[in-house]
Amino acid sequence: PFEKSKGQHILKNPALVDSIVAKAGLKPTDTVLEIGPGTGNLTKRLLEAGVKAVVAVELDPRMVLELNRRFQGHPLSSRLKVIQGDVLKCDLPYFDICVANIPYQISSPLTFKLLSHRPIFRCAVIMFQREFAMRLVAQPGDTLYCRLSVNVQLLSRVSHLLKVGRNNFRPPPKVDSSVVRIEPRKPLPPVSFKEWDGLVRICFNRKNKTLGSLFKQKRVLELLEKNYKTMQSLQLTQDADMGEEKMSADDVALLANMVEDLNMETGDEKEDDEMEMDDGDMAGDGAGSFKEKIMGILQQGDFAEKRGSKLSQVDFLYLLSLFNKAGIHFS
Ligand code: SAM
Repeated sequence: PFEKSKGQHILKNPALVDSIVAKAGLKPTDTVLEIGPGTGNLTKRLLEAGVKAVVAVELDPRMVLELNRRFQGHPLSSRLKVIQGDVLKCDLPYFDICVANIPYQISSPLTFKLLSHRPIFRCAVIMFQREFAMRLVAQPGDTLYCRLSVNVQLLSRVSHLLKVGRNNFRPPPKVDSSVVRIEPRKPLPPVSFKEWDGLVRICFNRKNKTLGSLFKQKRVLELLEKNYKTMQSLQLTQDADMGEEKMSADDVALLANMVEDLNMETGDEKEDDEMEMDDGDMAGDGAGSFKEKIMGILQQGDFAEKRGSKLSQVDFLYLLSLFNKAGIHFS
């Protein structure tokens, strides 16, 4: 009856469902968004917790039917609204809190869809695959610290709540799980997310390379020089990005595409087929060249010998501000 392709693993441990609901810190005034309610075990507890409303988005029409049947005539059914659809494609309704046991294949795009939703919610308590959860909470220097960690932590505070073994589900998935709490930062740091991700992407391109060598790559220099010239020709001020809307629909699309990239990051150092050009390749490599400008900025902040895998949020913010001050942009 359950479809693997839709990630249908039903929570069968009532004590676990209760502790997920307890961790959410629900208030009577809350509207709760549940994603992938399935047969409704979590939905039922959410309704019983006495919230104002539960809006549940479920892809599978058969599950929607079953849910409606299960809650028909239930005293709390007037507080439940089931929407049939793909959560990644539909417009999200207003919600204060998101509580969900999601299909793991949508983890990354869903996380960023939630974080770019407005008005911003209070918190999300979500079941993820263990490794994904550990990436979300990883700190500088941790093995799993990656672009996902840095980007999600820019927008939110993330904490690990519960370890969940695979036997709590029916059928059991192949991997263990974890429940994570995501609390959006208010206010968000004053950076353009596209710029931020552009910088972070370069810094994590190869985990164990120094920024000095990453920024010497021909395609990186070419990209930055192109942006630089565009900005100059448009005569934009160096902080043109500051203060603009932090997240646009484009950003969400961009973030949704991160899934592929992130999957690649799980492997060890990937080989780059493009040759690295350390010197002699850029036109005008003499004094005052674009490459020297970039190297100068890295040295100014003492970043040339550092590695992305060791940099904190504050380090990345500082590095971005140094680049932007010099008119260098990443998007
Ligand atoms: N919440 C239930 C529970 O804990 O017992 C079921 C969780 S099951 C891991 C994931 C559910 O999400 C399934 O019911 C599946 O049909 C649904 N689903 C899968 N992809 C979805 C999508 N893109 N949008 C909404 N729901 C989806």
